Amino acid sequence: MRATRAIIHLDNLRHNLRALDGSIRSVRGAPVPFFVAVKADGYGHGANRVASVAFEEGAEGVGVATVEEGAQLRDVGFSGRILLYSIVLAEEAAAIAELNLEPFVADEKYVRALAEAAERSSAGRAISVHLKIDTGMGRIGCKPEDAADLAVTISEQQTLRLAGVCTHFPTADSDDQSFTYEQLERFRHAVGGIRSRGVDPGRLHAANSGACLGVDAALLDVARPGISVYGYYPSHEQKRQIELRPVMELESRVVFVKSIEPGESVSYGRTWTAGRRTRIATVPVGYADGYNRLLSNRAEVLLFTGDEARNDSRAATRVPVVGRVCMDQLMIDCGPESTVRVGDRVVLFGPDPRGPDAEELAELAGTIPYEVVSQVNYRVPRI
Ligand SMILES: *Cc1c(COP(=O)(O)O)cnc(C)c1O
Repeated sequence: MRATRAIIHLDNLRHNLRALDGSIRSVRGAPVPFFVAVKADGYGHGANRVASVAFEEGAEGVGVATVEEGAQLRDVGFSGRILLYSIVLAEEAAAIAELNLEPFVADEKYVRALAEAAERSSAGRAISVHLKIDTGMGRIGCKPEDAADLAVTISEQQTLRLAGVCTHFPTADSDDQSFTYEQLERFRHAVGGIRSRGVDPGRLHAANSGACLGVDAALLDVARPGISVYGYYPSHEQKRQIELRPVMELESRVVFVKSIEPGESVSYGRTWTAGRRTRIATVPVGYADGYNRLLSNRAEVLLFTGDEARNDSRAATRVPVVGRVCMDQLMIDCGPESTVRVGDRVVLFGPDPRGPDAEELAELAGTIPYEVVSQVNYRVPRI
């Protein structure tokens, strides 16, 4: 197998699920059912395994972004509930019915398309839908003042069931929660309007990781965490109240080592030149594996060197990525005294506190940990 691989620490995944559940229980005084977001192949961690571990750990189901992601889970026998967090094309409605997915809905046309698809479907069951209200995210959702009419329309469809009413927060991970509380107020008001028309809204849900970890009032009936389950806080503004452990470890092995002289350059564009004689190692991982090119000349890796050290965690040192990250390879400056050899282990990011994690790389690349982990792509085997 290839040197570059992503180790998925399922024990850390379980730890995070339990820590999150424990924190919610202590706030609420009772458990709150939850759906784990496994869209984008489980934020890059492998949706099938994440879904099955989450299910074992008590999740009621999972959230996906596309019908294909739902189909993949059904193909491997996942029997939990699957919420479809995005709006898809009406022509995908038949597949939603067949796969027993629970779509978010936000307009009448889509609602009617789903109702018709359920009617035509051989599955012979109602589609459970979740009415999404846009209380301030500005992405998908009906206007709060239209929610009651839409809920009535849904309730009139024989082949649909209103399983829930929900919303989403753009700033639940910020240290200023005032907008989130404003949204909750709009949401409650809209739900009140639905109830006053005699429609049961089903279960209410809104809490992404930011809200799960910081806005107790937003927990409602069901929570929808994502990134926290994978071991990261959604932003560094958020208070670190529970210990989350990174689940993904991106590792590789040194495939080539050389010494270079002062004045010699490394990689495309010659953006890095040695200022001293030093040992340079080449690592077979690049931006086409999902290691961001913006990390060129910025990031560090954790290098495990030395004979007896190949499996010895005491021999780990941080060394810098030098020159531009290439499509399939990058170079690290191991230093003039380094004993680095071909085969030595390199950790690009992961749970080891001595090395970088996805949050550190995200900051260096001007992005968020979500993107760092979900960019690790199909070319990298998951172990
Ligand atoms: C992705 C997603 C979540 C989870 O968000 P995190 O910030 O990763 O916790 C929750 N709800 C919806 C609708 C989503 O798309």
